[in-house]
Amino acid sequence: MIIAITNQKGGVGKTTTAINLAAGLAEKGLRTLLVDLDPQGNSSMSFVPLEPGAPNMFNVLAEGLDMEEVILPATTTSNLWVAPSRIAMAKLEVNLAGSLDAPYRLKDAMEPVKDRYDAIILDTPPTLGLITLNALVAASHVLIPIQASYFALEGTDDLLETIDKIKARPNTELRLLGVLVTLFDKRTVLSRQVLAEIQEVFGDNVFETMISKSVRLEEAPAHQMSIFDYAPRSTGAYEYYRLCEEVLERAGS
Ligand code: ATP
Ligand code: MG
Repeated sequence: MIIAITNQKGGVGKTTTAINLAAGLAEKGLRTLLVDLDPQGNSSMSFVPLEPGAPNMFNVLAEGLDMEEVILPATTTSNLWVAPSRIAMAKLEVNLAGSLDAPYRLKDAMEPVKDRYDAIILDTPPTLGLITLNALVAASHVLIPIQASYFALEGTDDLLETIDKIKARPNTELRLLGVLVTLFDKRTVLSRQVLAEIQEVFGDNVFETMISKSVRLEEAPAHQMSIFDYAPRSTGAYEYYRLCEEVLERAGS
């Protein structure tokens, strides 16, 4: 399974989910690859040191470098590999302007390596531009994190429309794996109202597991750790572990 973690809204927990879903699946024994497609490079930084000038996903997508050349084993987690991103990724759209195969670059690049992994997680930037398009074309499943706050559903119509368009042609296999409610605070009326709204719109597509707002989850990346290493007994670790189980159930593997 290749799971794109996507929402063009910024700061909804895509990267936090990519990091901890990848780490959790790896801990469960799945050979897992985390592909960082965000120019901010935050998900790769949690697992591999930032080497200036090291080859990264920009070189793969823009210049045709073999994906094998950029994949690194995670330093602290076994069964986990990372394909890092760098700020150069922000130029991808300009670099590939006019190139007919632009939306297929990631799919083609992953073809020779994808069978080595049981799970591939794609972290995407907060846009519906070319990078996210590449992720949705290459993915088998899409997971949409939605933050339990004001305007939570703003933009989801555009996202769902994009997913439908991609399902209609370039990637008929693409399935919505689920909608993940993030940054949930069960003490606030607002969080509960937004949850009800999300459930009304997405019904059974909403994961039973919700990710609560937690300081531990916020702190872990600063220590270059997943939540399972940083605070294994925290609520956040429990919730992301439950999410991994639900993802495996839903993906049917
Ligand atoms: P972007 O759109 O910029 O890529 P994103 O969707 O990847 O953002 P994250 O980077 O995962 O979102 O999260 C945004 C901020 O919220 C980060 O500072 C992160 O540490 C924090 N955060 C994410 N999830 C939680 C949580 N459950 N509890 C507390 N803080 C969280
Ligand atoms: Mg992010």
